[in-house]
Amino acid sequence: MLIVSNRLPVKIIQKDGLSTYQPSEGGLATGLGSIYKEEGNLWIGWPGALVADKDKEKVIQDLDNDNLYPIFLTEKEILDYYEGFSNETLWPLFHYFPTYSIYNPEQFEVYKQANQKFADEILKIATEDDVIWIHDYQQMLLPEMIRRKLPGVTIGFFLHIPFPSYEVFRMLPWRKELLTGLTGADVIGFHTYDDVRHFLSATSRILNVNGTANELVIDDRKIVADAFPISIDYKKYKQLAESTETKRNERKLKELTGHNRLIISIDRLDYSKGILHRLQAYKLLLERHPELRGKVTLVHLVVPSRDKVTKYKELKEEMDMLISDINGQYSSFSWQPIQHFYRSFRIDILSALYKAADVALVTPLRDGMNLVSKEYVASKTDQRGVLVLSEMAGASRELSEALMVNPSDIWDYAEKIYQALNMPVEEQKRRMTAMQQTVSKFDIFNWVNNFIGRLEEIKAWQQELSTRNINESIRQKMAISYHYGSRRLLFLDYDGTMVSFKKQVNEAKPDDELLKLLECISSDPHNTVVITSGRDYHTLESWLGHLPVDIIAEHGAWYKEYDGPWRHRRDLNAGWKPDIRSVLEVYTSRTPGSFIEEKSYSLAWHYRKTESGLGSLRAQEITADLKYLAADLGLQVLQGDKVVEVKNISVNKGTAAKRWLEKTDADFIMAIGDDHTDEDTFKAMPADAITIKVGSNVSEATYYLRSYIEVRALLREICTASTDDEDEHEALLEEAN
Ligand code: UDP
Repeated sequence: MLIVSNRLPVKIIQKDGLSTYQPSEGGLATGLGSIYKEEGNLWIGWPGALVADKDKEKVIQDLDNDNLYPIFLTEKEILDYYEGFSNETLWPLFHYFPTYSIYNPEQFEVYKQANQKFADEILKIATEDDVIWIHDYQQMLLPEMIRRKLPGVTIGFFLHIPFPSYEVFRMLPWRKELLTGLTGADVIGFHTYDDVRHFLSATSRILNVNGTANELVIDDRKIVADAFPISIDYKKYKQLAESTETKRNERKLKELTGHNRLIISIDRLDYSKGILHRLQAYKLLLERHPELRGKVTLVHLVVPSRDKVTKYKELKEEMDMLISDINGQYSSFSWQPIQHFYRSFRIDILSALYKAADVALVTPLRDGMNLVSKEYVASKTDQRGVLVLSEMAGASRELSEALMVNPSDIWDYAEKIYQALNMPVEEQKRRMTAMQQTVSKFDIFNWVNNFIGRLEEIKAWQQELSTRNINESIRQKMAISYHYGSRRLLFLDYDGTMVSFKKQVNEAKPDDELLKLLECISSDPHNTVVITSGRDYHTLESWLGHLPVDIIAEHGAWYKEYDGPWRHRRDLNAGWKPDIRSVLEVYTSRTPGSFIEEKSYSLAWHYRKTESGLGSLRAQEITADLKYLAADLGLQVLQGDKVVEVKNISVNKGTAAKRWLEKTDADFIMAIGDDHTDEDTFKAMPADAITIKVGSNVSEATYYLRSYIEVRALLREICTASTDDEDEHEALLEEAN
């Protein structure tokens, strides 16, 4: 396995010509530690500093001992790819600060080049059998870059920041490139289900790729987007909190803060963290509850970050001013409302802080996950303490027993802090115990296992799919059994199976190539070709009536043999139509682009031209709305491809196909179709029939083909394979076996 991230889990520090390496204690490094340290595995990334050419060889050797593989960035790359495009374009936009996002094409070029640099290095090492796990927003183009060169390799991608709503993401000038880059992966992981939804919505609207639930089919590869909430090493934080060192530090801390009620907040300096809102809420608390003055202390810890960037500099100035304002206004000679630290603390000091704090304020305006909240929970070994958590943090989806706040509502926020300070111990314990159960179960190791498990699952699934895809040898076998058949029966669906799916219903008229192909198959006296369609019989008659093919129209309400008249099922009635039509009309008037198609025994509500998403929403509404009425009238409501169809319950392609199966003693049967109405045909087929689903693998059918183009190629091949040379066929059969 190759782990790839912008930064390696060590930072190189160069001083006086000597390199030292400072390991990261972050959750990701801990979680992946057991993986990348294993023999044969590697972690690939930037060592976090500019390295002179003369030192590179030495750094490579040093890191190699720990299975780390450095990628050296140039000054320009650090500036434009990392600090520029990653941190000043993607970071703000993905955290819902679009006005902070800088669009600079030159920086995007460098981002692309840097991703290519990573790809080139990876491709020097990787083989198709490897698993490559790529991390975060700095490497969004990488999956596709690798996929292009190693089509069979397994790639996972995890985004550690939020994926914004489509409405925000669409602003990005390079939205298409980034999405295409991501879809090179087999599994794309996000922290929350909302991120997954946003990503799927963006791919369907921007790349025009659709899928079912959270699966997408990209260039014939099925991939999955899923939520994997990242976490911490729970046991490590728990043990640290139980250590005598932490207990001593906790005591000291309480003494130093005059045994006041302690509130903590711990963040990197970042506008996404809601630092100013928090200070304002605290100020409001002191204003509204004067009895708390002198009794509470906010330990305000801010870790310096990106402080050369203008937005961060501005934020620091505002923060400093606000802190000074609050302290200036409320301090007494013996008390200061805020103890502010602008530096980083060691993990053992953090542990004591977590342990000592009565209340933790974790209230970002937006955060992918937020690990501080989970570390606080893990450190509360006596289950006392209250977590005030922003509903905008990914962690809020798991830690539902926290006191939830909208950080922009500083008025409610102030009251929530008050509530936290006054929460009965029993309630504190109940909430904390529940959160601890969650975090201890869903820890960082669980996260790693879940992600890798999903990756293995999807890979196995892709492999299974490839065995169902009609490859050369299956094709040959089909051609041979076709050749040996003397009474062949072929059921061919029309739309989506033999022609592409069109926005205008009538644009799907057969082209010359298709007509010739159908003529070729149907003119063979050994063949009975049955076109099985949901279309009305008038259209099918005018398009295909001149060919020697049998036709099933309107899913079987109408049918004909090529030399006979059109017949319809006499047991059907259409008296229900006005009732259903009036319901469908309501939806048509509410949904621009939708229309009703009337057939003899069915009504179809089409939405192929409506706004993406709205049509399928309406289709669900119609299905729910008609549920009881349809059942009373003996009808069924079917959801097809961009259509909802209401028809008599007994009408389906399978029932219709049985008529042919019963009267033809066929020795070669093939059925091809693309949507769920064809599933009835597949189900009606005998076990030895060849059933083929077009465009998807979720089906009753044995095989699958990607598109109508492949269907035509297959039909052409088996049709022209008719040769009387028995020896040649024996040879082919041998080869195919
Ligand atoms: N942290 C630290 N030293 C400090 C303050 C924080 O090591 O002085 C760690 C903290 O324990 C947590 C991480 O920094 O593991 C912050 O992660 P989080 O997901 O909360 O926010 P991010 O900085 O990744 O946006």
